[in-house]
Amino acid sequence: MMSIKPDLIIVGAGMAGLCAAKTAIEAGARVLVLEKAYRSGGTTRLSDGVFNACDPQRQYPLDIHDSPERHFQDVMEQGRGKSHPNLLQAYTYGAQETFSWLEHLGFKFDDRVTQEAGTLYPRCHKPLEGGGASYIEFLLSVLSSSLCTVAYGCEVIGLKTNSNSCPTVIAQKKGDLIELTPRKGVLLCAGGFAANRRMVTSQFSLLTGSEYIGSRDCDGVVLSAAVHIGAECLHMSFFDLCSDSNEIEELLSNPADFILLNDQGKRFCREDLDVQSLYEAILLQNNHSADLVCLGPVKRESNSRQSNYPLEALNKYAKACRLKIDDEFGKNPYFLRYPFEVVKQFKVSPKMKCSLGGLLINEKAQVLNREREVMPGLYAAGEIVGGILGEKSASGEGLASAAVFARIGAREVLRI
Ligand SMILES: Cc1cc2nc3c(=O)[nH]c(=O)nc-3n(C[C@H](O)[C@H](O)[C@H](O)COP(=O)(O)OP(=O)(O)OC[C@H]3O[C@@H](n4cnc5c(N)ncnc54)[C@H](O)[C@@H]3O)c2cc1C
Repeated sequence: MMSIKPDLIIVGAGMAGLCAAKTAIEAGARVLVLEKAYRSGGTTRLSDGVFNACDPQRQYPLDIHDSPERHFQDVMEQGRGKSHPNLLQAYTYGAQETFSWLEHLGFKFDDRVTQEAGTLYPRCHKPLEGGGASYIEFLLSVLSSSLCTVAYGCEVIGLKTNSNSCPTVIAQKKGDLIELTPRKGVLLCAGGFAANRRMVTSQFSLLTGSEYIGSRDCDGVVLSAAVHIGAECLHMSFFDLCSDSNEIEELLSNPADFILLNDQGKRFCREDLDVQSLYEAILLQNNHSADLVCLGPVKRESNSRQSNYPLEALNKYAKACRLKIDDEFGKNPYFLRYPFEVVKQFKVSPKMKCSLGGLLINEKAQVLNREREVMPGLYAAGEIVGGILGEKSASGEGLASAAVFARIGAREVLRI
């Protein structure tokens, strides 16, 4: 595995783990990355690759006036005010530096700055080619060094504390148990826990029937191991939900252009809620799904196709639009457009994208115990951490915050 004792053991080789490994070897540290799967990437590999950061070089010429403070305010609003301000500040003020670091290493971002569905401001960056997998392939390519070993098929199943020094990592590889204690620190980057159905439904029972679309390897075993030795968790009932396609996600962001109907053909909520709240309302319906009925301006003389849709609900909604009063659910009159016709219809079944709760850390990525004290030698970054993004997050914050705290954690372990 590694003949000399590593300075740093990193658990998990996704965005957080690989950014931490690169940061550490830049400082000359010996790094051992333990990865459960037989290839790197975890959920990062499956992601769209959107990375949010304030980047004046690209934004100012486009007349986009952004700042870390504005990024902070947006994430706080998106997270319904639940983000820990010190963690969110460390993230949003560190995002620009981390973005530039990736570019200086040679990672190619598209020059365009976008505002992805559900985000509050145009500060989304995408890889020039490919999605999340491109970060993984790139980081692996710059990691090739005698200082770093990535051990695949090595699942961490436990942690042991050692008085006032680094914890010991217990891993299994091909049925053999291994105990490893690094010289300076252990950084937990094992992703979220949404693949663990029991953990998810014990926190948020509405998600019982929801499919999870991230990595199956992110099952909360490392999180539980940290809790077992005294680590504190928070926000464990907060999850990011999404739908089958970006098209549906975008449609749900335009409340004038749709209504949602349940399996009895009835509206069940005002449609001008934020997208995550709409998903929650859908989860409360039978089969945890709903019909998204898309509305547009009347274009045709003939209205024959409209008879395929639940007429009672449509007539009721048309009346509300004509009178500009939604008696049933109180949708803002601004979004009550009339006349309209049905353009198309989709089935929406919210899926779990990632868990937002996890280990409690401080702004130095140090894991805190239930007394809010620093646990010696134990650090965490990425989706395994809770409290940064609050109750809901938008596309682009997960990868960026994973990378920022990974770099903070690696530097802190090595005191650089
Ligand atoms: C479909 C989809 C699209 C997304 N798109 C975006 C996007 O565009 N932008 C964005 O910001 N976020 C996006 N996200 C969220 C984002 O992907 C995650 O927040 C991010 O990848 C988390 O990175 P991570 O390094 O913490 O975890 P991961 O990338 O999941 O890495 C964790 C690693 O730890 C390993 N591991 C787990 N358990 C163990 C163990 N016991 N021992 C050893 N190793 C272990 C896993 O195998 C994995 O390789 C998306 C998520 C999904 C599901």
